[in-house]
Amino acid sequence: MIVYKFGGASVRNADAIRNVASILKSCEAEHLVVVQSALGKMTNHLETIWKEWIEGEKTDSSLEHFKNYHLSIAKELKLNDVCLVPLQAMFSDFEKMLQATPPRDSDQAYDQIVSWGELIGTCLVHLALESEGLPIEWVDIRHVLRTDSTHRAAELDWERTRKQTDILKSHFEKGQRNIVLTQGFIAESTFGNTTTLGREGSDYSAAILAYLLDAQSLTIWKDVPGMLNADPKWFNHTVMIPSLSYKEAIELSYYGASVIHPKTIKPLQNKSIPLFVKGFLSPTEKGTEISENAMAEQPVPMYIFKPKQILISISPRDFSFIVESNLRDIFEAFALSGLTINLMQNSAISFSVCVNEDMERISRFIDLMSSNYAIRYNQEVELLTIRHFDENTVRQLAQGKEVLLEQRSRHTLRMVLRKKV
Ligand code: ASP
Ligand code: MG
Repeated sequence: MIVYKFGGASVRNADAIRNVASILKSCEAEHLVVVQSALGKMTNHLETIWKEWIEGEKTDSSLEHFKNYHLSIAKELKLNDVCLVPLQAMFSDFEKMLQATPPRDSDQAYDQIVSWGELIGTCLVHLALESEGLPIEWVDIRHVLRTDSTHRAAELDWERTRKQTDILKSHFEKGQRNIVLTQGFIAESTFGNTTTLGREGSDYSAAILAYLLDAQSLTIWKDVPGMLNADPKWFNHTVMIPSLSYKEAIELSYYGASVIHPKTIKPLQNKSIPLFVKGFLSPTEKGTEISENAMAEQPVPMYIFKPKQILISISPRDFSFIVESNLRDIFEAFALSGLTINLMQNSAISFSVCVNEDMERISRFIDLMSSNYAIRYNQEVELLTIRHFDENTVRQLAQGKEVLLEQRSRHTLRMVLRKKV
């Protein structure tokens, strides 16, 4: 058994879906689970519909766009009306939901709406793949994945989910080729409500299923040919990384590399299931392998760049040292304001943190702290993390910039930088 994950870009139009069909046709595994996201940028669009719904505005034209997007792909794929009955049924259920009053909890409403991207997207792709003659079945993953009720960022209930795994296994028979197509990102709470695992959570869904099914491998199909040592959006000379250890992949995603969802690696590592990151436009190329002992040779430097950061400096108003009770106040305020810390450092009289430029949460944080602490901040700074750094490149990258803060460990260098004026 192997698991494949296809994200939104890999199924964004009719040609892309035909390409998925050809990848599946050339896959030799007898049993295959395919985890799929919403088509293209449909999750963003559904977020708009959600906002309209909870604010009591009209959703008609946004819904129309959502339907037309899927229907025009179906038309291009030459799926006839009879074949599209299941898809139409889903559209009308979605429409009915939008006519009802949203639940009071807006996060719960979010999950109810946004999950249609995955449900309808997989329904369409299922119909397309079936019409290509693939032995494929559609499964509603909400019958399998069980979570708590933290809407928009649900935590998996591993015990209860484990008990549901037979639902998936029952679709496979020895000696017979079968493909199960299901949704990433969505799940169901103990109370029977739809939940989601957080944006970009489909990678994690795929890793959970690989773990539960003792898969031989998981392949995440991406619009890049594998993992690069930096984001080509920011760096000119990127190189492909042929292999990477689980540990290294976890470190990279912790520092903010966005190729794979940070929670993806751990379940795979626990069962030594290799993860392949491959390009759906170059399926015969090897891509990147992430596994236990990969990357024994000289590692290449890897760069993670986060623009639009804010460096906040916090000091007690009574000029006292930063001691444990201050740290407790500071961390509590971070947790309460929902602000994520990207880097932190303290000196005797101040505590500095680098955070994303999220002014709403930052002002919530300042409100909580300002009676006892003086808060200053630098806007428009950048956070650069280099794994396996060498002095030459560090000097080059810091050129023309002021280093506001620097942290070094044996393998990792982190700098908060600001353009010199
Ligand atoms: N469709 C969801 C999103 O866009 C989940 C995913 O693609 O992983 O965030
Ligand atoms: Mg995606």
